[in-house]
Amino acid sequence: MTFDPAKQLQDFLALGEFGGVNPSISDSSTYIFKNAEMMEQAFEREVEGCYLYSRLRSPTNKALSDALACMEDGEAGQVMASGMAAISATLLSLCSAGDEIVSSRTVYGGTYALMKNFLPRFGVRTHFVDLKDQGAVQAAISPKTRLLYCETMSNPLLEIADIPDLSRMAKDGEVPLIVDNTFGPLIFSPMRLGADAVIHSLTKFINGTSDCVAGCVVSTEDFIARLNDSNHGSTMLLGSTLDSLRAASILKNLNTLHIRMAKHGENALYLAQKLRNIGLPVHYPGLESHPHHDLATRLLNPGFGYGGMLAVDVGDKVRAGRLLALLQEAKVGYLAVSLGYFKTLFSAPGQSTSSEIPVDEQESMGLSEGLIRMSVGLDNDIRNTWEVICTCLAEIGVTAVEPVPTLSP
Ligand SMILES: *Cc1c(COP(=O)(O)O)cnc(C)c1O
Repeated sequence: MTFDPAKQLQDFLALGEFGGVNPSISDSSTYIFKNAEMMEQAFEREVEGCYLYSRLRSPTNKALSDALACMEDGEAGQVMASGMAAISATLLSLCSAGDEIVSSRTVYGGTYALMKNFLPRFGVRTHFVDLKDQGAVQAAISPKTRLLYCETMSNPLLEIADIPDLSRMAKDGEVPLIVDNTFGPLIFSPMRLGADAVIHSLTKFINGTSDCVAGCVVSTEDFIARLNDSNHGSTMLLGSTLDSLRAASILKNLNTLHIRMAKHGENALYLAQKLRNIGLPVHYPGLESHPHHDLATRLLNPGFGYGGMLAVDVGDKVRAGRLLALLQEAKVGYLAVSLGYFKTLFSAPGQSTSSEIPVDEQESMGLSEGLIRMSVGLDNDIRNTWEVICTCLAEIGVTAVEPVPTLSP
């Protein structure tokens, strides 16, 4: 039986007080107890249906956490104030001074900077490896390793992590595999493929309206309980709590995620095919020419496409910059970082989202200077969008003429 994360979400119910179809928003930081004994119990362990203080837990945040756990097929979840809060809390929960992390070298810029620049101050070192090189991953895992870290789809080249394979290597090394699934919600279900915890920046596709910053971790009951421990837990003690009002609005958006992901994917595939047909180098896992097309097809949940992100190389930095300005003028979308918005967002990764990565390392990763990253929006008429893109391409000297197919005899 194939797993359907959209069905999981559809079957997840969280009603409000008074029979509201949405959970009520918990508008309180603190909660009353009938007596001191009950308060003491709540301090010691989680009591079902009992709330103490909203930094620890709130009914609305719990509803969103539970929905995300359902979607990712994990036992429990914890929402946080940002994707980086979820990442830093997870890493700090697993690592102490002297420990090591083995991470993909093509992770989100903020994650890279956290591992490369910040964590060493606390004695935690990261080995960055090319996930395609199995030997290198295995060689990097040592008795000091506390976790293996990767993203389902890398930024911006959309390389796909072979999660079942990485999970085997993690198990051999007796370390958990932590996967950031921000680029591929619904499309990939990392926990079903062998990951021990899944992280999302809810800021992107999951919320989908670019109006807030939020994150989550989904894992086992034990792992989430450890994060939330009042005396030792990193979410509790670092304190990056999501506001309940935001949690309520993200939960409502989560319920249209399946429609949005399918549309983002359909539009991105259309543009990727067109850009490839006119001869530009395109990175999109839905194209058969993508090196990980077969792997993606094998790992994905059918029905949600190959994602809304694509990267295209227009030759050099000057042309890339000029094209971004033209696309914005022509209302194709916005020159902005981030992704998963209903309008198309575009940027030049080398000068923006991957700028934390040193230039020589960018080159070895295949990040060329003419690369443009697009988070393709929910355009109703993508054919029309393509025509507008063609006029912009013409202005930077790219002739957008598709080769005429030769008729077979
Ligand atoms: C944006 C992003 C993050 C960080 O999330 P914030 O919500 O901005 O803190 C982490 N990982 C990936 C892949 C992202 O795209």
